[in-house]
Amino acid sequence: MVPSRDLAKKVALTKWSEGGVDPCFACGLCTAVCPVHNNVDLSFDPRKLVRMTIMGQKEELLRSELLWLCLLCNSCGYHCPRGVKFSHVVPILREMALQQEYAKASLLKKVGYRYILPSRKRLACASKFIAFYQRNRRLFENLGISRLFPDSVELLAKVLPPVASPPLRERLAERVPAEGKTKYRVAFFLGCADDLIYTDVAKATISLLTSLGCEVLIPKQIQCCGMPFVGYSDMRLAKHMALQNISALEKTGADFIVADCATCSSFLKEYKLLFSDDPSYAHRAAFFASKVRDVTEMLSILSFENGLLGRLRARLVFHDPCHLRKTQRIWREPRELLRKVEGLEVLEAMEPLLCCGGAGTYNVFQYEASMKILEKKLQRLMETKPDLIVTSCPGCITQLKMGIHMKGLPYGVKHVVEVIKESFLEKT
Ligand code: SF4
Ligand code: SF4
Repeated sequence: MVPSRDLAKKVALTKWSEGGVDPCFACGLCTAVCPVHNNVDLSFDPRKLVRMTIMGQKEELLRSELLWLCLLCNSCGYHCPRGVKFSHVVPILREMALQQEYAKASLLKKVGYRYILPSRKRLACASKFIAFYQRNRRLFENLGISRLFPDSVELLAKVLPPVASPPLRERLAERVPAEGKTKYRVAFFLGCADDLIYTDVAKATISLLTSLGCEVLIPKQIQCCGMPFVGYSDMRLAKHMALQNISALEKTGADFIVADCATCSSFLKEYKLLFSDDPSYAHRAAFFASKVRDVTEMLSILSFENGLLGRLRARLVFHDPCHLRKTQRIWREPRELLRKVEGLEVLEAMEPLLCCGGAGTYNVFQYEASMKILEKKLQRLMETKPDLIVTSCPGCITQLKMGIHMKGLPYGVKHVVEVIKESFLEKT
């Protein structure tokens, strides 16, 4: 078959690719920093995949299993001297592979991404089942039913806190007033993980925002941010979710939109790009995105105005979520916040840009690869000999907990807002 340039052109035409792959000059830096290449499979080579796209080797590329090994961590894009954003090209290639039947999604993925995740009701039902499974794990084990689940699901059931049933949103007020004078009105994006699993993280975020002078608005109609659908390569569904979120959040008229999940905050900001080729929504999405702040950014603004935070004695190391550091380029803020807590020693691990391998559901669908990447990350974090590992993404918290559980290590993992909240309590 004669290679054609159509593939690279098609990729470049999609605004999500941010200019496509043509600027690549084949330096290989993307491959050098890729966690999949370095820890899982040397034949996974982003430079080669980019070149194949440029050369139009469509069939070979779209049929390749390698396309599904990418974490979308953006390590390659962060380092690329030519600005090629391969983590944005991969979903476009995956979507082509599925639509043109070069690849097939598993039944589990289809049910999860097309049926459960897009619907709050079905997600709540699924979480009830998971909560039931968590409570009755022994029974499931004795009946031999647990053996039917993949290792990843078993491990998740062990490390996740009890799934909230009903979801947290049903127990929260839609408006929580500021303590004292209101400085800002903030709409809180209550993501799926906080709503169903890490409810204490959401509560800590709301409490910190209100105690630092924000009125917090919590719209109940919020849907999944849409990022999982990009990974699954259904951009249509990602846009559908995004539009519902834009409608729900812009109605609040808030000054800022805050998310405490690095993946959610990064993707909410990317709504601007997601709709940039759609004249009917581009302006609205751009205005929406301009108001989005990751919780670490928002707390930095507020704590700058308020001076020192609380008091807590601990040695901790901060793990940078890929969607915080490499997508939003936020890394100083969480460290500066933690250093404002009296008594905290903030340690620095080697290779801080290393991905933990969680990547949404990568640790379910690519379990072995995910664990190999995690091994390296944990090694780097452990070298600092911390009391505690701190991060700011529920996906990373889960992944790190999985590794710690498997290795029987004595470390806790917390979200940065939980640590700061705890420091406030210690101070009072
Ligand atoms: S880092 Fe960028 S320019 Fe270098 S090979 Fe990779 S995509 Fe091409
Ligand atoms: S996004 Fe991450 S996993 Fe995918 S090619 Fe780039 S560096 Fe490798």
